[in-house]
Amino acid sequence: MKKIFLVALCTTMGTCVMAQSAITEKEIKDHIWYLASPKMKGRFPGTAGNNKAADYLVKQFKKSGISPFGNSYFQEFTAKMRVKKGVTDTPYVQTKNVVGFIEGSDPKLKNEYIVIGAHYDHLGMGGASSKKPDTVAVHPGADDNASGTAALLEISEKLAANKASLKRSIIIIAFSAEEQGLLGSKYFTEHPLVPLSQIKLMINMDMVGRMNTEKHLYMGGAASFDGGMELMKSLGPKIGINPIVNAYDVGGSDHVSFYKKNIPVLGFHTGGHPQYHTPEDDRKLINIAGEKLVCDYIYEALTTIANRNEPILFVPEKKM
Ligand SMILES: [Zn+2]
Repeated sequence: MKKIFLVALCTTMGTCVMAQSAITEKEIKDHIWYLASPKMKGRFPGTAGNNKAADYLVKQFKKSGISPFGNSYFQEFTAKMRVKKGVTDTPYVQTKNVVGFIEGSDPKLKNEYIVIGAHYDHLGMGGASSKKPDTVAVHPGADDNASGTAALLEISEKLAANKASLKRSIIIIAFSAEEQGLLGSKYFTEHPLVPLSQIKLMINMDMVGRMNTEKHLYMGGAASFDGGMELMKSLGPKIGINPIVNAYDVGGSDHVSFYKKNIPVLGFHTGGHPQYHTPEDDRKLINIAGEKLVCDYIYEALTTIANRNEPILFVPEKKM
C-alpha cells in the first residue's frame, strides 16, 4: 500500500526522492564514497569494516528488491590470511560472500544462471599484498574494488527492476577475501548454490573506476563462449566506449575460479595505475562518468546473453 502511494505521489509531483532503478552517476558515487571511506579501514576480512561493507550490500540488495538465495544473503567461510615472508603463524578469520538472486522469467531457461560478481574486500591497513608493505595506513581500495562493488549494486538494481524481461536467472555475488588468493570465489565454486553445470557465464568486475580519456574498457574471456567476441565488440559504439576485447587472457581475479571449472567468463577492468595496492587508491581519483559507461556496457552485454534463445556454450582455449 505504502509503495503504491509513493509511486502515485512521485508521478503527480513529476520528481521523486526514492532510489532510482536506473544506473546513475550519483548512486555509483554514493556507494564508492561509503565503501572506500576512511572509517571502513580498508575492508579487511575479519574486521568491522569488512562486516559493515557486507551489511551495506544486504541493505542495498533489499532496497533493490533482490532476494537471498535460500534463507540468507551471507555465505560464510573461513579465510586463511596471507602473511609477510618469514612470518610463521597463519591467521584464520571468518568472513562471507554476499549473494543475491533474481529469478528468470522463462519457464525453461530460468534453470540456467548467469553470475555477476565483484570482490568487496581490500587490504585493510596494508601488509603482505601492499605495494608499500612497511607502511601502516588505511588502504581505502576505492578502485580496488569499491568501484566494482558499486557497479555490481547499480547493475543488479536495474536488473531487478527489469526482471520480467530476463529469461535466465541471475546470481549476484560480492566476494570477500579476493586479495587473500581469490578465497571467496574459490569457496563459492566449491560450495555452489546451484549445480555448476547450470552456471552458463560468470561476469567479474575488478577495478572499473579509472577509465582513461580514450574510454578503454579491458576484458578477458570473450572467446570462452560462442559468439562472445562479436557481441562484446559490437556493443562499444552503442554505449560510446572503446572495448579492448581479449579472447582469453583471463587474468587473476575471481572469475578465474569459475574458468577453472569450465564456465565461460568475462573479466572486466579499466587498467592499472600507480595507486594500485597503496594507501593512495582514493575515492577522489575515480572517474564516475567513466564508470557509468562501464555499467551501461556490462548491463547491455549481460541482458543480451541472458535473453538469447540459443544455448551458451563453453569454448576452451586452444593451447598451441
Ligand atoms: Zn581487486
